[in-house]
Amino acid sequence: MARVFNFSAGPAALPEDVLNQAREEMGDWQGSGMSVMEMSHRGKEFMSIAEKAEADLREIMQIPSNYKVLFLQGGASSQFAMVPINLLNGKKAADYVLTGSWGKKAIAEAKRYCDVNVVASSLEQKFSTVPAFNTWQLNRDAAYVHYTPNETIEGVEFNFVPETGDVPLVVDMSSTILSRPIDVSKFGVIYAGAQKNIGPAGLTIAIVREDLIGNAMANMPVMMDYKIHADNDSMYNTPPTYSWYMAGLVFQWIKNTGGMDKIAEINECKAAKLYAAIDGSDFYANPVEKPFRSWMNVPFTLANADLDATFLSEAKDVGLVTLKGHRSVGGMRASIYNAMPEAGVDALVSFMAEFEKRHG
Ligand code: PMP
Repeated sequence: MARVFNFSAGPAALPEDVLNQAREEMGDWQGSGMSVMEMSHRGKEFMSIAEKAEADLREIMQIPSNYKVLFLQGGASSQFAMVPINLLNGKKAADYVLTGSWGKKAIAEAKRYCDVNVVASSLEQKFSTVPAFNTWQLNRDAAYVHYTPNETIEGVEFNFVPETGDVPLVVDMSSTILSRPIDVSKFGVIYAGAQKNIGPAGLTIAIVREDLIGNAMANMPVMMDYKIHADNDSMYNTPPTYSWYMAGLVFQWIKNTGGMDKIAEINECKAAKLYAAIDGSDFYANPVEKPFRSWMNVPFTLANADLDATFLSEAKDVGLVTLKGHRSVGGMRASIYNAMPEAGVDALVSFMAEFEKRHG
């Protein structure tokens, strides 16, 4: 396979071993005579794939037994609505922390269902930091506290988990899940779109503490109720079977790599190399305060924005692709999720140095 280093923010690169296994099993999954895409989701073959994927995810993330793992559709964007629909439970308001573009969207959606109190925000700092926890204006009667541990567009990541007592903590982990070990027991709901560290687009994972299931608002579509999915092992309707299978292969790959501790070690090292290259030059810059720099999404600008197009096209010529920054912030962004090998970061760092020499 002629493969490029793909720095896409999502859908993102998948581990080559996973793609190879999927290719081998494409037309005939383990002697079944059919592709996973062609299987009934209720047949014993797919049931075994589904159960193994969940068991492996539980093992990797050490998910306690009082949490359900739901394999859903609709993307993280649907969770922006499902969270208030399921968690308000008669309350009128929820607390939100705003540290970037995705948090802003989560807030806009929640406002359709409840009063949103933005209890901390880094909007004035142009989302370059995370507000210190002792400045948050939390409300004791909030239904939950929501934040975005890693803002994919701005590249800003929490380096702490807030303590909110009895008020459940809800997190959009789309772009940081599986990047390092986390203590699941600190959260009420963890949700993530799959298309970064989990697998292909189309699958959304929600890890929900059991006591938060079963209180959905009346008159909402049944598909928005965590309970219907929990009671039916995520098979109330046809789930995204192929994405679920691929996610299972990714979980297996994480286990083979050495689990979350090892993955975290590799991620920290990759991020450190890239930030060192940026900070060590006057030509490249990253605006995020150092303690809150993302391990997964590294935005950077060139000293002269007129060179952006040249940078992108020369990078592409050497097999480094999808480095264009999000349209809302411009510049570049290198997303270096789990599947990006260290060699990809090394290649980018060398290219950046060489580009600076010629154009800087
Ligand atoms: N939240 C975050 C942090 C994201 O990065 C994204 C997608 N880039 C979303 C939400 C939206 O996810 P989806 O497209 O799966 O709805």
